[in-house]
Amino acid sequence: MNISKPKGTKDIFFDEINVWQYVEENIIKVCKEFNIGEIRTPVFESTALFKRSVGDSTDIVNKEMYTFEDKGFRSITLRPELTAGVVRAYIENGMSSLPSPLKFWYRGNMYRYERMQKGRYREFSQFGVEIIGSDSNLADIESISVAYALFKRIGLSSHIVISLNSIGCTKCRNIFIQALKEYIKPNLNKMCDTCKVRFEKNPMRMIDCKEKGCKDILAKAPVITDYLCEDCRVDFQGVQNMLKALDIPFVLDNTIVRGLDYYNKTVYEITSKDLGLSVGGGGRYDGLVSILGGVQTPAVGFAIGMDRVVILLQQLGLDKQISKKVDLYFAIIDKDAEVISRKITSKLREMGYVVDIDIQRRSFKAQLKYADKIKARYVCIIGKNEIKNNTCIIKNMEDGKQLEVKLEIDEIINRLL
Ligand code: AMP
Repeated sequence: MNISKPKGTKDIFFDEINVWQYVEENIIKVCKEFNIGEIRTPVFESTALFKRSVGDSTDIVNKEMYTFEDKGFRSITLRPELTAGVVRAYIENGMSSLPSPLKFWYRGNMYRYERMQKGRYREFSQFGVEIIGSDSNLADIESISVAYALFKRIGLSSHIVISLNSIGCTKCRNIFIQALKEYIKPNLNKMCDTCKVRFEKNPMRMIDCKEKGCKDILAKAPVITDYLCEDCRVDFQGVQNMLKALDIPFVLDNTIVRGLDYYNKTVYEITSKDLGLSVGGGGRYDGLVSILGGVQTPAVGFAIGMDRVVILLQQLGLDKQISKKVDLYFAIIDKDAEVISRKITSKLREMGYVVDIDIQRRSFKAQLKYADKIKARYVCIIGKNEIKNNTCIIKNMEDGKQLEVKLEIDEIINRLL
């Protein structure tokens, strides 16, 4: 019986894994530079965590969660996102008593039972940052800056667009929602079924409906930024001014509301024109810590879809420079060379060179063929004569030129440079 992987999951290996590692290495570097510490939380959590935080009226909670009962009859859910888990960990570990703000980054697999398409999987990976404890819009700036720095570092900053909006605080948003509902009410029967449900349960979500008919009706609907209270207006203007001053490009888009219930004030979506998809999104979520039982604590954060970042790098051909090269392959023709070549290999590996060596006692021809396949830059050949003379032959695999050098580490390194 052949067993295949579940729908919406992937096996990642060879060239593609190099691209993932490249992105991950840059995430670690950028986060270190921003003094952001990593946090790892469980892949599964109590279902109640997501119901309470992500919200009962969202697609994620209603349709997409991988929920099951464990052997102790607890309702468990594979995390569909990680903000809730980070905030739970913040509260549970008493972090509110620590010097604030706290800055965390995470990376991990998320699970959503979605309809499969390119860039949309049931198991996918996100990198995210959460900054907990600052109500200043400088924290919003810091979080957008990290996301932008990562895209810049991996060569994608000119291939993404940051679309910014403010959805205000509960006070101004409620006034806006009233106005929105009044505008929509006479047209509600012309809107899609999802919007009809959202009209009652989560009117903000109607704004980002992709149905043509709904979009037409919404084109003339009131916009949230016209309803912001003075505090939210000044806050949002401050974010824009600072981004401009820092040369972080953005566009304003008042249809950005974010899918989840817990956001307020500045929210943003990062999209890729090349993919025609969102690659990330984030915003402020001042209410979430208290919703989950902690003391009221302001917070901001974002999540970037790593699968889509990898696809984008591949689509733009930027992955070509990433593939890791083997510096040297040791081809052993004589059994007596096995120990010495392994000793030299170990030394070179300790020094950071990527070195591969025959582990099959294959013919010389087969070894050369293999070295070519793994794209080794050089091959070091040691046969009977070389052992006798205490030398080795270094073959440049690009131009085929060969040179005999002393069987000494410095001599070999000189050739690799
Ligand atoms: P969200 O948590 O829904 O705001 O998503 C943040 C980012 O995660 C999106 O911009 C996508 O890049 C990525 N993402 C969300 N859902 C999926 C999925 N099913 N498959 C792949 N990436 C996803």
